[in-house]
Amino acid sequence: MAGSGIVNTVPQLETLIDLDAIAHNVRILTEHAGDAAVMVVVKADGYNHGAIEVAKAALAAGARELGVTTIAEAVALRESGIDAPILCWLNNSDADFGSAIAADIEIAVPSVAHLEGVAAAVDRLGRPAIVSVKVDTGLNRNGVPESEYPRLLELLKQLVTEDKVRLRAIFSHLANADEPRHPSIDLQRDRFGEFIAVARAHGLTPELVHLANSAAALTRPDLAFDMVRPGIAVYGLSPIPEISDFGLRPAMTFRARVALVKRVAAGEGVSYGHEWIADRDTTVALIPAGYADGVPRTLGGKFSVWLGGARRPGIGRICMDQLVVNLGENETGVREGDTAVLFGGEPGVPHPQEWADALGTIHYEVVCAPRGRAVRGYLGGDR
Ligand SMILES: *Cc1c(COP(=O)(O)O)cnc(C)c1O
Repeated sequence: MAGSGIVNTVPQLETLIDLDAIAHNVRILTEHAGDAAVMVVVKADGYNHGAIEVAKAALAAGARELGVTTIAEAVALRESGIDAPILCWLNNSDADFGSAIAADIEIAVPSVAHLEGVAAAVDRLGRPAIVSVKVDTGLNRNGVPESEYPRLLELLKQLVTEDKVRLRAIFSHLANADEPRHPSIDLQRDRFGEFIAVARAHGLTPELVHLANSAAALTRPDLAFDMVRPGIAVYGLSPIPEISDFGLRPAMTFRARVALVKRVAAGEGVSYGHEWIADRDTTVALIPAGYADGVPRTLGGKFSVWLGGARRPGIGRICMDQLVVNLGENETGVREGDTAVLFGGEPGVPHPQEWADALGTIHYEVVCAPRGRAVRGYLGGDR
């Protein structure tokens, strides 16, 4: 009740995360995985959906393990009461491996220096580490290169023999999984097989091996090995939108409550720089979301919001805290306090892919964008 003196506690700007959509997407991924387990990737605070809540919903829906980037991310999950296996795969060699070991976090090592760092922590704590080896099969980003691999295996063999390390997995990451027939995929698969064979020749047998991200998990069942490692598909965004949505449901809705509705006369300019000029009298709505909240300024003039049962084009420059949309004659009577959806998964609503196309990026970056004053809320799940 705008102006009535009753305080509305619905956030002005929020990302609403549908945990039932997360569970639905996990079930789709487990079906595709066949006999392989599903590790849900919840790095970067669950792709900005909330790592802890997503992790709990995903595990309840059949995921078996969790993957993150840093030790701090992994420890935060453990401290939330999650006892599933948690792997972290990007840390400096002088990271606090002791805190990972103490929390039963699986540590991925991409170099001898990293393994030495882990070994030092094992000696300090007097407690073995759970280690996976990240091998570089052609992404040429993280992962141990072939040249350093024999030295890494020698140290690993010694640590395993001394019961200082439990070798959990050997894994790698694909460069072109979003092109399911790209020849580099088979090349990476073959190199992955060689890395595993070389480990075996050193007397090292991993408990499991894994390679597939979302795109591979959905299109290359032959690469599922013992476990798949989807991220983006868990959040309901297709890793290959040109091929299919795979029945996934976007989990994030980014929405705001209209802060003001008013008339603007023909000839008046709207927002900084007057880049948009009204060619007739019109009604505009002020949306309290700006580039400080994750609506990129470069999206100005290239987007619309879902408001009052229709798409309303953004007009003029996106500012730090606010943006303006055009309601025309406002036939549906949009009022202050109404909800405008910036993006989401419901029919009619702008899809994150639309922002990605307008911005020349991928939807991964779009869902990672909301921040600042955007408050996160949840829907569904066993909450
Ligand atoms: C981010 C990441 C994934 C998940 O990738 P998606 O494309 O989001 O499925 C899997 N494995 C590794 C090593 C990653 O860094």
